[in-house]
Amino acid sequence: MQDTPDRYSRHTLLRMVGQGGQDKIQKARVLVAGLGALGSTISILLARAGVGFLRIVDKDVPQLHNLHRQILYDEMDVSLGIPKVDAARMNLLSAASNVEIDAINQEMAETNIYSLLDGIDLVVDALDNSETRFVVNDAIVDLKIPYIFGGAVETVGNVMTIIPGRSPCLRCIWPDPSSIVGHARASTVGVLSSVASLVASVQVTEAFKVLVGDIENAINGILVIDIWKNQFHVVPVEPRPNCTCKKICSQ
Ligand SMILES: [Zn+2]
Repeated sequence: MQDTPDRYSRHTLLRMVGQGGQDKIQKARVLVAGLGALGSTISILLARAGVGFLRIVDKDVPQLHNLHRQILYDEMDVSLGIPKVDAARMNLLSAASNVEIDAINQEMAETNIYSLLDGIDLVVDALDNSETRFVVNDAIVDLKIPYIFGGAVETVGNVMTIIPGRSPCLRCIWPDPSSIVGHARASTVGVLSSVASLVASVQVTEAFKVLVGDIENAINGILVIDIWKNQFHVVPVEPRPNCTCKKICSQ
């Protein structure tokens, strides 16, 4: 479909976005790491906002017990058993044909992380395991690529915006990644669909701030949400003096 000048007018009317901010969004190259509940909402919002290039990475297929929160997929996708990235690409392009979608049917790992991050301006985290998050964390710190960490389980969610050289990284909070391996997962304790959607929306808001250049208003610390208890608060996080990436974090 041919774009019209007012396609993004409800965003460009915002004083914090404006045409200048929208132009930056449309030139941005963003990687969405994982296409589960968070990745569904994140990629839909980013594509519909006109992010110029989206690299979506996952190696899974849609399953019926995930449809309550993974809103990129439908029952037909489950029946066909097609990869998430392929179902997602078709869905995203149907709403935003002007966005370039690079669908990668792979697990993110130490072996491919640098090629996946090639040419990327921003990473939005929608992973379902801590091990891979630390692979991403170390690479984005090395390459100085902003990274929006997010997670949701039960009724609880976290969001943290990591700007290498300016803010702490995941290892500043959890110096030993193995200490959080085995934490509660949706497959064992469940996840409320609405907290996943909320966390993803906060992450996308942080992504917009980074893309338009308003990092002064980014979350300073880690946002902790319990949607059932209506609790939202930011826990301050300081760069850990002996963080293994300190020499990079502090530059
Ligand atoms: Zn660190």
